[in-house]
Amino acid sequence: MTLTDNPLLHGGEMPDFAAIRPEHVKPAIDLLLAEAEVALERAVGPEVPADHHALALVLDVPVERLRRTWSHVNHLQAVADTPALRAAHAEALPRITDFTTRLGADARLYAKYKAVAASPAAAAMTASQRKALADTLRDFVLGGAELQGAQRARYAAIQERCSALSKAFGDHVLDATDAFTLDVEEALLDGVPDDVRQAAREAAATAGVAGCRLTLQAPCYIPLLQYASHRPLREQLFRAYNTRASELGPAELDNTAVMQELLDLRAEEAALLGHPSYAELALVPKMARTADEVLAFVRDLAQRARPAAERELAELRDCAARELGLTDMQAWDRHYVAEKLKHARYDFSSQEVKQYFTEPAVLQGLFGLVETLFEVAIRPEQAPVWHDSVRFFRVWRGGTPVAAFYLDPYARAGKQSGAWMDDSRARWRRPEGHLQLPVAHLICNYAPPVGGQPALLTHDDVITLFHEFGHGLHHMLTQVDELGVSGISGVEWDAVELPSQFMENFCWEWEVLQRLTRHLQTGQTLPRGLFDRMLAARHFGGGLRLLRQCEFSLFDMRLHSEDAAAGRVGDIRDEVNAEIQPMRAPEFLRYPHSFGHIFDGGYAAGYYGYAWAEVLSADAYGAFEEAGVFDAATGRRFREHVLEVGGSRPALESFRAFRGREPRLDALLRHQGLA
Ligand code: ZN
Repeated sequence: MTLTDNPLLHGGEMPDFAAIRPEHVKPAIDLLLAEAEVALERAVGPEVPADHHALALVLDVPVERLRRTWSHVNHLQAVADTPALRAAHAEALPRITDFTTRLGADARLYAKYKAVAASPAAAAMTASQRKALADTLRDFVLGGAELQGAQRARYAAIQERCSALSKAFGDHVLDATDAFTLDVEEALLDGVPDDVRQAAREAAATAGVAGCRLTLQAPCYIPLLQYASHRPLREQLFRAYNTRASELGPAELDNTAVMQELLDLRAEEAALLGHPSYAELALVPKMARTADEVLAFVRDLAQRARPAAERELAELRDCAARELGLTDMQAWDRHYVAEKLKHARYDFSSQEVKQYFTEPAVLQGLFGLVETLFEVAIRPEQAPVWHDSVRFFRVWRGGTPVAAFYLDPYARAGKQSGAWMDDSRARWRRPEGHLQLPVAHLICNYAPPVGGQPALLTHDDVITLFHEFGHGLHHMLTQVDELGVSGISGVEWDAVELPSQFMENFCWEWEVLQRLTRHLQTGQTLPRGLFDRMLAARHFGGGLRLLRQCEFSLFDMRLHSEDAAAGRVGDIRDEVNAEIQPMRAPEFLRYPHSFGHIFDGGYAAGYYGYAWAEVLSADAYGAFEEAGVFDAATGRRFREHVLEVGGSRPALESFRAFRGREPRLDALLRHQGLA
């Protein structure tokens, strides 16, 4: 094999995915890494002037090629994994990580970019180029590039220690979860679905014990809390789950000290970089400006959701007392009672709904909606793919191709679960001169077709498909030519879910569903009665769900913005609970000890982002509710002001340009049935 027949290095517009083999990975990455290393040394040297175009040509071209090729390898590992591919991936990963880390912290490169910003030629840069350069400089600063001497060393030590602590935090949660098993007689599992019992019987048999083995893994724990009529069993499981990795369990898995040290180090890192708290540091690249703004946002949302949550809680208590004889409903009863109430009120099966969402109808409806709203055409094309169920489409506007995407719809062995959009290639006016068009991967995991009939989607599958397509539109319809800010690149992290959550709303519109459904047998569209029941069930428990989000968001933000919070984790947890929830948590609740999002996930001082983006997407969607869901003029404005501009300007500016005003909470509350 020679480098010239390596499909990772050659393949025209996109690589020949069908031809890529694990043995192609190492030689391709070796070559591209070496090229990128050489480029970095050249770029920081004296012969490359401090000029935007010169740097792009020398450095961005080889670095983008490395990243793009590596993204193909990542992609294949996620959708068509084999032991050999996994090994090739694992071999290359540390080398790629090492290079990108060094690239992002190179003091010489930082100096060069600063010189670009200070040069007279900077005045001639486009707005997109200026935004990309500003983002680059900001990321260098956040990465500690301004620090000198002892401070620089301390910053690096903090980073290293924090990543070890985060890893320990996650390991403790995992180990504490796995360490718990409870063996019971099957007679205790009254009410629990058959498949869950079956799995519990098999787990017991594997362990060589009689009866059923229960665990704290989600596929066991969640249905047990929802369906087990045996109250002491629910309590026992709830208590075990909510005390994981805390001082109430084994000392070697206790996360108390890990959390404290992490919070102290984060505060120290923020101080080193000149910020009053870790929250203020974490908010620099985000849309929300200050911790106070986030605190006010969360408290406002909680206050608005509170009446509905109180109503829902009263209904649960009433149902518990009257139907189930539970006059003192406890935390471990809530899911159980909610399930009973929901079933009594909105009885319909997702099996029944599924018969209407036949795949060809769903895709035709989705593409038709997008074509109408955003003035594009989506056409299938032939292209080499990694599995024969994968399809390739090109997106056209006015007879010109603007983007392309692969759709990989079905679950199968060797493919990761979940759904996601991946940018295989970004739009870029390349420094060599030509325009590179964006290509997206849209990955879902719904059940494949059986028996020669079309695949059937659940309504949740449809919502997920629309969500990922929203990310895809953001990536594909961009008109920005600058690599770092085209599509979703450079979009603030708490605003990036706007287009995706926005698209979900269409799945709840009667007119849209009429174009999206065709019954497998009868060919009929979704009937109104069934739709009304789906709609009513959508809002069930919405107030309590929103309060839970507010509780976690407020806890996270207070923890990362208050002085000496590291020593007050338990107090802040209790104060937040008392402030937000109409029903107090049990004294033993230790959710912070397993709150992986903020201690092991990248959501530190960022948990509010879920609700934040939902406010934006709901409010943006409100414009379509006002004008009509198929209104082409509103669609065009959304395309031009939000989708096309990508990260080339702050998300708030894009929102204002589209909506003509600041974001408001009203639409979110209305969509959740709370207004
Ligand atoms: Zn998303």
